[in-house]
Amino acid sequence: MWYTTSTMINKKKLLIANWKMNVTSQKEAEGLFLSIRNVITRLNHTHMICCPPHIYLNQVAEHVNSNNYTVGAQDAYAEESGSRTGETSVLMIKNAEVGHVILGHSERRHLETKLDVARKVSAVLEHGMKPIICIGEEQRDKNWKKEIQQQLKDVFDRVSKKEPENIIIAYEPIWAISGDKKSPATSVQYNESIAVIKEELKKIFRTQKAVEEMKFVYGGSLDDKNIEDFLKNTDTDGFLVGRVSHDPRILMSMFRLIETHVENEEEL
Ligand code: PEP
Repeated sequence: MWYTTSTMINKKKLLIANWKMNVTSQKEAEGLFLSIRNVITRLNHTHMICCPPHIYLNQVAEHVNSNNYTVGAQDAYAEESGSRTGETSVLMIKNAEVGHVILGHSERRHLETKLDVARKVSAVLEHGMKPIICIGEEQRDKNWKKEIQQQLKDVFDRVSKKEPENIIIAYEPIWAISGDKKSPATSVQYNESIAVIKEELKKIFRTQKAVEEMKFVYGGSLDDKNIEDFLKNTDTDGFLVGRVSHDPRILMSMFRLIETHVENEEEL
């Protein structure tokens, strides 16, 4: 197994690829992963977290041959084992060499309660993995700030505050996610939202240091046409992509834009 330390990941921009339920056979999963693997291994400034459906986790993990990417899961049941038909336990996920788990995704929130999400976050942390916690308002209306503040309270009021460095917050406004007619948030909206999120987390964790140790990424209708707005105008730690996560051509183009951006920044 390839071992990637937190320090290695810390310095790089994250690109979290959420395949959702869009890859439907082992052959397709393998083909997709292998088609991007050669490019990923040559990246200097980007770390990819590839999140296939559970059924392909082992298969993708077997192909990992570089520190530039790790395997993530799209969910994990909060208990280790038991009579839970159809679920995949947090221990099974951990044993599949998974490093990160997406939790609280808006496409799952109708299937689970706020308490379920908080329990999953705790279980993932307790099993030595990192939760990618999705936070985002339904509409950009007069209530958006309260909505995301409440989502954060619902999770973190019930979760240990001991490991902020293992927490990734994905700001994913629901109105921007995965629709043909949808467009992403702007960098201005991202910056406004992240400021609200950080302020709330500072209150919850009672220290600014905890917030500085977390990572913050953006997700919602991102592609190679709009990622530059975020690269140039925010200090985001990375990106979460859904629809384009299984399009090697667009992914490669996004990798190139990230790499070039970081190299240009370093030259300044
Ligand atoms: C998502 O569902 O987390 C997501 C970011 O999807 P998309 O990129 O398709 O908007």
